[in-house]
Amino acid sequence: ATVTENQHAALLARHRAVLPDWLATYYAKPIELTHGAGRHVWDAEGNRYLDFFGGILTTMTAHALPEVTAAITEQAGKILHSSTLYLSRQAVELAERIARLSGIPDARVFFTTSGTEANDTALLLATSYRRSNQVLALRNSYHGRSFSAIGITGNASWSPTSLSPLQTLYVHGGVRTRGPYAHLSDAEFIAACVADLEDVLGQAGGQVAALIAEPVQGVGGFTSGPDGLLAAFKEVLDRHGILWITDEVQAGWGRTGDHFWGWQAHGQAGPPDILTFAKGIGNGMSMGGVVARAEVMNCLTANSISTFGGSPITTAAALANLGHLLDHDLQGNARRVGGLLRSRLESLAASLSIVREVRGRGLMLGVELVEPGTDIPSATAAGLVLEAAREHGLLIGKGGRAGNALRIAPPLSLTVAEAEEGATALGAALKEAQAALESAGAGGADSAAQGGTPA
Ligand code: PMP
Repeated sequence: ATVTENQHAALLARHRAVLPDWLATYYAKPIELTHGAGRHVWDAEGNRYLDFFGGILTTMTAHALPEVTAAITEQAGKILHSSTLYLSRQAVELAERIARLSGIPDARVFFTTSGTEANDTALLLATSYRRSNQVLALRNSYHGRSFSAIGITGNASWSPTSLSPLQTLYVHGGVRTRGPYAHLSDAEFIAACVADLEDVLGQAGGQVAALIAEPVQGVGGFTSGPDGLLAAFKEVLDRHGILWITDEVQAGWGRTGDHFWGWQAHGQAGPPDILTFAKGIGNGMSMGGVVARAEVMNCLTANSISTFGGSPITTAAALANLGHLLDHDLQGNARRVGGLLRSRLESLAASLSIVREVRGRGLMLGVELVEPGTDIPSATAAGLVLEAAREHGLLIGKGGRAGNALRIAPPLSLTVAEAEEGATALGAALKEAQAALESAGAGGADSAAQGGTPA
């Protein structure tokens, strides 16, 4: 049975009356998702959408993946509890697999319920290990919204407070589209960012605990520095004994196609000291975690961090999901289908004056939007494209420093036909948004929808 307009409006009114005002939802008329299958989802009014945002990247493989459903159902029929006080076969097995995959030698794995909690734990580890609350983060970063994660998020519009338990120093490296180093070659860009890092360290005074970096900035609009940048950073960090934390919450699990982890695009300097993950691993179940060398992980004397990390049901789901990902080479699929999708988007962009850049790799593709024919970032354009894409049956995400980037991150099992279908829908949405902006006249009201993008 489908929900009527009135029933939808009533639910929205109740949502707005009881949930916080800052819990932003996408779309002028928010969507109530009721079910999914493969790369498609349906809303309560019976509309079907192709999902190019993977339930905000949490649906790693596919919606309603039978293996994951079976694992969850089987475990739910046995026992539901929190695992940290008892042994859990699934948690051990999953930790063993992730430890091996991480590339970190002598790795220990701690499970959390979210990416925020994973980063919070990573910061607790790094600051305890180094006995310092000074950390380095990239400008334009997003790492979550706990009290400490806010403190390493480099865009004020994503931070509800400027107070922080950390002293954070921001360095260049995540964004190449704009900014002082935008015109440089790869090698020059890396050299400039390393010089900036050295400069910041020179002024830091105390002992810096860690550098945290997203290999591809997610909320930041799917931007990244050139391959090898983090390896160049690592050389500097090693000289100072500073730990490298890679936040793989969005870029991990083969999403970028070329690599299983985002850090591997910078792999010459070896694995990071700490790796955090979340989102996709549970295929929609709340699951995250931290991987670190034993020496770093074991520097804490506390018991656990929280009650629920690595519960039998989330780890059962994650094991089934990870098994499916590896058995079906979805990383390879992301590379192949993502490559096709990117070239389709590039040919669309060539004839559109609101697209400044198509970027990214694998199934993590960003589209930077501007006011027609200018170089001025347009959050209005991103909002218009999002709404228009929905009308064409396509869900996408937005983000970026000025709220002007589209984020495309479908489940990793996307087929070629679905990539074509999505590109056609997106092309139509981009054209409509451009026409609307052109008819409204150049300039206009582009200050409204800055930042605020959830997840
Ligand atoms: N790190 C990154 C790179 C993220 O994109 C996010 C979520 N958007 C987080 C951490 C926080 O994860 P969660 O929302 O699961 O707490």
